Amino acid sequence: MIIDSHVHVGTFPSVESAGHLLSSAPDVVAFRTRHRELYERFAHEEPLDNGETLIGDMDRFGIGKAIVQSRPGVGNDLVAAIAARHPGRLIPIAVPTPWPTPIDDPREPRNMMSPKGVAAELERCIVDLGMVGVGEIFVRRLTRRLHPEDIADDLAPMMEVIARHQASVQIPTAWTQLPGGLYYGDPIWVDEVASRYPSARVILTKMGRGIDHYFENCLSVAMRNENVYLEISGSSSSHLRRALQAIGPKRLLFGTDWSPVWRFVRDPAPVVLKSIRNVEEATEDPDIRRQLFGLTALSLYDVAISRWERHRQGANP
Ligand SMILES: [Zn+2]
Repeated sequence: MIIDSHVHVGTFPSVESAGHLLSSAPDVVAFRTRHRELYERFAHEEPLDNGETLIGDMDRFGIGKAIVQSRPGVGNDLVAAIAARHPGRLIPIAVPTPWPTPIDDPREPRNMMSPKGVAAELERCIVDLGMVGVGEIFVRRLTRRLHPEDIADDLAPMMEVIARHQASVQIPTAWTQLPGGLYYGDPIWVDEVASRYPSARVILTKMGRGIDHYFENCLSVAMRNENVYLEISGSSSSHLRRALQAIGPKRLLFGTDWSPVWRFVRDPAPVVLKSIRNVEEATEDPDIRRQLFGLTALSLYDVAISRWERHRQGANP
């Protein structure tokens, strides 16, 4: 079974209307600056449940389960509600540091979150909503510091919650299509966080997004820390081959970065298909493919998935 560890749910009417402008990766990257008025519209709209659309794509490409998280403008409660409507298929993880919308600039001090506030929101997501781990954190929401030791100090309360619940956290690497925070996309600082919390699993999503500079630093951090995993969406088969040689398959994780925006991309291929092909091009070994497609995700999320099923059944007996 294929488990997609990296999916963003929740959408907006303006995003759904923009599909014809988002057929390639460069279209997605440029969308915010090329169609500013349309891009900014979602900040004034109510988020929608797009679980059915996701399930349709999962069925089309043979994905059994997806670990789902929020996107800008979508809260943790909606993510948990969407996942609860698709038992056995969708499992929710928390993003305690919301990603910015156009009316929510994190450079404004009032829009920052305190390290303790982030830890409290995460505790609520795990205990009250039953969420099973942490999705891609938006680091700039809780720190503006640059030294790795200072960044790790600001992340400490959140990391303590993660370590206590034996959970994992996804940390994005390389660029995003959103404004600001590019500095934190170079994962060299994550070495400090990972080494302080060996019982917390740290997943570097997109493992550098195919860019050599970021990928080399992902590899360095993963080689130095056994609790660091690399997630492969947006990467390339040549980087995946190198990662297999350097750290082996047990810390390499399948993901697609499916989102209401990325799902429209068709050139050169839909994101789900592209990630599947990357694995197939990187290795012909059936055992390694099985490890990448599902077993690594099970080693990270299996206990937590059973906890989510119990929570969901308790909430909807
Ligand atoms: Zn993502």
